[in-house]
This record gives sequence, structure tokens and C-alpha cells, in this order.
Amino acid sequence: MASYGRPDAVRELLGISGDIAVLTAAAGSPSAQAGLTANQHVTAIAGVDPHTWLSEARSDWQRTKRMHDWIDQRVKEDGSVTLTLAEGKDVTLEPVLACASRFELSGENKGAMAEGSRVILGYHFPGFAYPEEELAAAIAHELAHNVLHHRDWLDANGRSRSNVRLTEREADRLMPWLLANAGYDPAAATRFMKRWGPIHDGGIFRKRTHDGWDERVEFIEAERALIEGLQQEEGVDWRRHFTREITTL
Ligand SMILES: [Zn+2]
Repeated sequence: MASYGRPDAVRELLGISGDIAVLTAAAGSPSAQAGLTANQHVTAIAGVDPHTWLSEARSDWQRTKRMHDWIDQRVKEDGSVTLTLAEGKDVTLEPVLACASRFELSGENKGAMAEGSRVILGYHFPGFAYPEEELAAAIAHELAHNVLHHRDWLDANGRSRSNVRLTEREADRLMPWLLANAGYDPAAATRFMKRWGPIHDGGIFRKRTHDGWDERVEFIEAERALIEGLQQEEGVDWRRHFTREITTL
């Protein structure tokens, strides 16, 4: 509840008494298969009661992240994790292979960002009003920053304008690859950039850490041609066929 701006209002709306509850259980996921449903009160995770972990009263995402990290760690080391629900019922979750990035909705802002292990979209992110495949393209750009380890590279090499521009260009270029692998039309990356670019790249005042939106479209289109060829033949494995702009270990 502490991650919300108005925990009391959410608690009342959803009828949740405790501080820690199931937000959702995606269809087909281990949580859903184990019978978890939204708003169930969680009293312990692998024997630890997260209510005892310090947290601000509101708008505090850290404790939620700490719980997710704890779940990941248990799953990794123990091969499963057991949640205890308010009724004293234990639910054991068996892990499946999944995307390593987490996707989160944040508060009152319109930004989109990737910080290495998470992709975070502001509640007012303009992409939510776009067709689904173009929202997917925007999310693919952020996910690309994580899978290409851009944060680590920028930490090591500095956030000069030219370094940031290289990572942004890579993230744009990887968009159609990730879209193709997720079952979307890779051309949605171009459509996204054509919709987003003219409004958000700022024209002559554009951020010089990014290429102009028309150049960004050209970079994306070049990848798309490559992907189309691969889709006919062997499948779209960006790890083998994507040419990096930067050198990482
Ligand atoms: Zn970016």
C-alpha cells in the first residue's frame, strides 16, 4: 500500500486491511496456477514478514522492490518461494524462465525510463494513448537499454552527449528486433517514432543526446530490412545479428 500516493483510499476501494497484498496474477503464470488472486493479504514471504521492513507511509516504491528482490533471490537459491496469506494458508510458487526486466507503473509523471533491471512508465506516459503495438515499441526501446546493459556502460564510460547518443541509437535500433520476437510487427517501431518524434523531439531545441526523429526512423528502417530477411530464413536472433555501436564486455 505504501507505494500508492493515497494508501488509505486504495485500501478502502479494494477492501484491503494489511499493507502487503497481491496486485495481480497474470493468466497462465505460476502465481495464477498456484491460485493467487488480486488483493489477497500477504503476511510472509519465505518466512519473513515484510511489514517489519521500514517504509515511508506513501509514495514509497523501495519496499516493493525489496520484496521482489527477496522473491527473486529465494527462487534462485531455493528453487521456489512460499507466500503466507492472511488466513495462514501457504502458497508455493515454482519459477519459470521469464524476462529478467520488471515492468512498473510509477506515479504522476509522463516519463519512460530503464534503470538496468526495471522499465518504469509514468502514469501519464503519452504512449498509453497509442495503438498497442506502438506502445510495445516504446517499451521495447526502454527494455533495449536494459538488455544491452547501457546503464553499466554509461557508468563505466561516462554520460557524455556522444555516449548517451550511442546508447539511444542502439535502443532505437533494437526496438524492431524485440518487437519481432514478441510477436508484433517490427514496423510498429517506425510507426511509433513517426508519431512520437515530431511532437517530442523538440525540433531545433531537441535534446542533442538523441538523433533527430527522422534520422531515428532511418536507423530503425535499416534494421527492419535486416529482420525481414532473417524472418524468412533462420529466425530473429539479435544476439547474433545485431551490430553494436558500443563495445561492452
Ligand atoms: Zn532511451
